[in-house]
Amino acid sequence: MNKKNNPVINTDKCKGCELCVSECPVEIIAISDEINIMGYHPAYITDSTKCTGCIKCAISCPDAVITVYREE
Ligand code: SF4
Ligand code: SF4
Repeated sequence: MNKKNNPVINTDKCKGCELCVSECPVEIIAISDEINIMGYHPAYITDSTKCTGCIKCAISCPDAVITVYREE
């Protein structure tokens, strides 16, 4: 079975707290060098092909700016 998961971070609303970075078991979330419209360094997904769809990142985000689209 081919399974595709797609975690999406709303970078404009991310405060760069890094909670999601430490929660991801496959370490595919990093903090960008860029600055978003609120003046924070936002999180971004480095390799969505490795995403397991565990939604730990979405649950950990205090601002609920991560959505994980899961496809079975
Ligand atoms: S759903 Fe899980 S594996 Fe995918 S980016 Fe979020 S924490 Fe990482
Ligand atoms: S937990 Fe949410 S606010 Fe914090 S860095 Fe991750 S996406 Fe941004």
